[in-house]
Amino acid sequence: MEKKVDYLIVGQGLAGTFLAFQLMQKGKSVLVVDKGLKYASSRVAAGVINPIVLKRFTITWRAKEFLKYNPSFYKKLDTYLGNQYHFDLPLKKLISSQEEIDFWEHRYHKENVSDFINRKLIDAGNEILPAQNFKVGTVKQASWLNIGELLPDFRSRLIQNNSVLEEDFDFSFLQKNSYKKIEFKTIVFCEGARGKYNPLFKNLPFSLNKGQLMTVKSDQLPSNCLLKKKVFILPAAKGEFKIGATYSWKWDTSSEAAEHQIEEEKTDMLKSYMKEMTSANYTVSKIETGIRPSIKDRRPIIGQHPDKKNVYIFNGLGSRGCFMAPLLVDEFIGHAEHGTALHPEVNLNRYNT
Ligand SMILES: Cc1cc2nc3c(=O)[nH]c(=O)nc-3n(C[C@H](O)[C@H](O)[C@H](O)COP(=O)(O)OP(=O)(O)OC[C@H]3O[C@@H](n4cnc5c(N)ncnc54)[C@H](O)[C@@H]3O)c2cc1C
Repeated sequence: MEKKVDYLIVGQGLAGTFLAFQLMQKGKSVLVVDKGLKYASSRVAAGVINPIVLKRFTITWRAKEFLKYNPSFYKKLDTYLGNQYHFDLPLKKLISSQEEIDFWEHRYHKENVSDFINRKLIDAGNEILPAQNFKVGTVKQASWLNIGELLPDFRSRLIQNNSVLEEDFDFSFLQKNSYKKIEFKTIVFCEGARGKYNPLFKNLPFSLNKGQLMTVKSDQLPSNCLLKKKVFILPAAKGEFKIGATYSWKWDTSSEAAEHQIEEEKTDMLKSYMKEMTSANYTVSKIETGIRPSIKDRRPIIGQHPDKKNVYIFNGLGSRGCFMAPLLVDEFIGHAEHGTALHPEVNLNRYNT
């Protein structure tokens, strides 16, 4: 064998990256196989971390646990790569009707929502060039992960360490403890949307959805907060903002290029939603799409293959990977290494595969 590793990881999206990092931190050797799929969700993700569902003002699943775990994880990752990728960023919800004002007040008093939002609404200042007479409500504990730089930087480290195979994983070479010339103890599939076609984990109830994100340049939009109404306006780099995101449940899946195709009607939608929020001038610099790896019950799907004891899956991060993945990766390692029980709502064994 050319190389022996503890873990072979298939996929270097957010899931594979965080898993490789945490395993390395725990002294395990890893090798990652990644093809660089064009429609991978992590290539497009904006990196917004928001503990509240802003349509209904409900607290997201396990929000408090993730909020508690994330800062130290992201700090460790920043230190490892020698750069800052995770930033606190106040989220400002634009509110345009009395009904919305009443709903904000109503929800403030329910289910500990007061831990996550400021009660007081303020007038939208001129700095956001509001398109109407908005009030602004602030969501606390929101943040931003610069995933667009984080993943390529982590990949460079893997390449330096000779720990990545840049190819499509070929199942015909997979043996019990080896893949081509690599011997492994454990293999973990972190394939995102492509997991739907994994022959070892058949019939998983994926509910994939396609998202589109628009990048714009502007010297009039605010760079110190994330604005949200029907879409978000996220300051991502100096004078650059990400606008998104959209959801589609039907698209052409005939090829990788087709899956990656831009949806013109969604671009128009993003522009019109942005017009409802602000009168700031901007120019569009990029439009991208990706397929979110969601599961029907909207929970991740993590666990051990029912028959092959050294084969695992870590998938189903859906639209909140940046929020959930750090703690879930830690729980996964506890499970794979020490047999610690997984959270029942993420465990693969809730489905027949
Ligand atoms: C438009 C859009 C906006 C989003 N915004 C946010 C956001 O603001 N905040 C947030 O938390 N989440 C966001 N998401 C969701 C986020 O992208 C996902 O939760 C997360 O990135 C999923 O990561 P993953 O590693 O599971 O899958 P993926 O990102 O799909 O990664 C899978 C990886 O596996 C590789 N791969 C797959 N199969 C193979 C194979 N057979 N051989 C070799 N390599 C393979 C692919 O090349 C890819 O690199 C957004 C998604 C979209 C589409």
